[in-house]
Amino acid sequence: MPAYEYLCDSCGHRFERRQKMSDAEITACPACGGEVRRLISGGAGVIAKGGAASAPAPCGAGECCMPQMSGGCGAGCGCGH
Ligand SMILES: [Zn+2]
Repeated sequence: MPAYEYLCDSCGHRFERRQKMSDAEITACPACGGEVRRLISGGAGVIAKGGAASAPAPCGAGECCMPQMSGGCGAGCGCGH
């Protein structure tokens, strides 16, 4: 089953879903509900930037990776802020 990489246009949340080819594309961000788009994957080099494909980039000290979201990152991020 191929894994598809999605990127949220609203908050930048990036995540991966394993789906069958026949499954519908995911259109809503699990973190903010915004619109997501599917990234072209298929090579490790394509998604290497930012580390593990399914984990958002960790926040820097005192810096939330999703400052746009009220209340911090919430469950969608995992950075603990
Ligand atoms: Zn989002």
